[in-house]
Amino acid sequence: MNKTEAYIVCQDLFKTYKGTELEVVALRGIDLEIMQGEFVGIIGYSGSGKTTLLNVLSGLDKPSSGQVRIGHRDLLNMSESDLVAFRREEVGFVWQSPARNILPYLKAVENVELPMVISGQSSADRRERAMDLLSALGLEAKATRYPDELSGGEQQRVAIAVALANRPGLLLADEPTGELDTRTADDVLKALQDVCVDFGVTVVVVTHYSGTSRFTDRVVQIRDGRIVAELVSQASKRRPDQLVTREYLVVDRAGRMQLPLDSLKALGTTGRVRIDADSNQIVLKPEGSDS
Ligand code: ADP
Ligand code: MG
Repeated sequence: MNKTEAYIVCQDLFKTYKGTELEVVALRGIDLEIMQGEFVGIIGYSGSGKTTLLNVLSGLDKPSSGQVRIGHRDLLNMSESDLVAFRREEVGFVWQSPARNILPYLKAVENVELPMVISGQSSADRRERAMDLLSALGLEAKATRYPDELSGGEQQRVAIAVALANRPGLLLADEPTGELDTRTADDVLKALQDVCVDFGVTVVVVTHYSGTSRFTDRVVQIRDGRIVAELVSQASKRRPDQLVTREYLVVDRAGRMQLPLDSLKALGTTGRVRIDADSNQIVLKPEGSDS
């Protein structure tokens, strides 16, 4: 697969959770394509559907409708045993809490080797791969430390190494910076950016952290289970050492889009609006604002 072909394709994804009383619609028509080797951030308020989306991408959860393809796999038409193999071989996962990612009674290097023990690799290969990963993450000197001898950011970097041990094509991280301060969050995002570049792995990270777009290729903002906007950071044309972040609204295949809350406020109304459109601009006006 090359860089111009999408590695992840989600089409009109819906996910409904059936509670005891009412249904919760966690995803309402997500269209998303992610290229191989891309580093994508997902931001959004709590309850907006971020974890649900990651769980669908990792094959842990099935959407209620829509399509998900990852590489050559159609996740909705896979047997349970193929899904288990997909999760084991193709996906690495980093959770918010370091305690969920690494075992306290194993040294950093042993934690990284553990998934390879399970997948049956020789001990020499395991050690070599584990040390390569730890070096790539700037942790070579900490390989023989136990988790409680490492900082929170270092523990999460070990967790990234653990997630990459079996060479997955996709690395998913659900708020890996949630328990870290800003500077340490930067370290973890930088580490994710590095592994994305060095190992060619596709990385999708859910985060609340506002500095994310400095590290990612783009950030997808979701609200109420829909994609609202994407933020893309690029080097400034005039000052290549500076990053410029542009925000784009996203119009899906069916022409649906969601206005950002500040535009909705500026519009001052919901319900009927008039559209004045020409080739380079579209103006929305509340009904009755002109004749
Ligand atoms: P986020 O990760 O953005 O905080 P989630 O994807 O966890 O959001 O949740 C999206 C919505 O789906 C929320 O309203 C949440 O309460 C609901 N939800 C998530 N998981 C379940 C579940 N297993 N059962 C019922 N409702 C759920
Ligand atoms: Mg969540």
